[in-house]
Amino acid sequence: MTLLELEGVTASYGASQALFGIDLRIAEGEALAVMGRNGMGKTTTVRTICRMIPAAGRLTFDGQDLAALSSHRAARLGIGLVPEGRRCFRDLTVAENLLAAARPGHWDLDRAVTLFPRLGERQRQRAALLSGGEQQMLAMARALMTNPRLLILDEATEGLAPIVRQEIWAAIARLKSESGMAMMVIDKSLAELRGACDKAVILERGRTVWSDGIDRLTDEISQRHLGV
Ligand code: ATP
Repeated sequence: MTLLELEGVTASYGASQALFGIDLRIAEGEALAVMGRNGMGKTTTVRTICRMIPAAGRLTFDGQDLAALSSHRAARLGIGLVPEGRRCFRDLTVAENLLAAARPGHWDLDRAVTLFPRLGERQRQRAALLSGGEQQMLAMARALMTNPRLLILDEATEGLAPIVRQEIWAAIARLKSESGMAMMVIDKSLAELRGACDKAVILERGRTVWSDGIDRLTDEISQRHLGV
């Protein structure tokens, strides 16, 4: 069943239009990679789905019209965001950060720290004292604590050491295989996206220019649209 669907979606920052026609679809249990060079509209697409900026076009989640909703209502429908820049409450402890986000469902404190054992070890530490990688894990765990139906990861491995990146990708793989979590994943690593995602879209200047199973993304297509 289709969970998220965007068709001909446009969006603007004030007078400046950033999205000119985004088409994408995510079914339950599916992981979609959203790719594109810098500035092509990936984060703006995320902000549009999370209802942070005004948009037009067809935008539905579980059959409901998202366009009219506030960001708060969109989150309550089950859209969990791990934003670029891994925001968390720096003065709260790890456990307090997680519990502040909690909503009823499968994901609770025990399950979150089982997915990220490092967070379990640091439950009583203030978030400000965590490493960048641990803060990213906390941002992911916080999003899971809201028990989303769709998890959106915007550059979750950006700027992290290779070993920590591996831990994040392992957690993404577990989320997919063990809980069938629907996901939208934005990342620069094509190799890792290929392992984690079923489908992909490529954005260029605010438009979807390619969309298919990620195994159909040939070197020629990625060279043409992504330059890699
Ligand atoms: P990156 O990989 O660099 O994060 P991106 O694909 O996520 O890039 P966006 O951040 O969505 O790209 O940017 C799409 C367009 O919207 C760009 O032209 C950018 O300059 C513009 N833009 C992004 N954020 C804002 C903003 N807050 N105000 C005005 N324009 C913005």
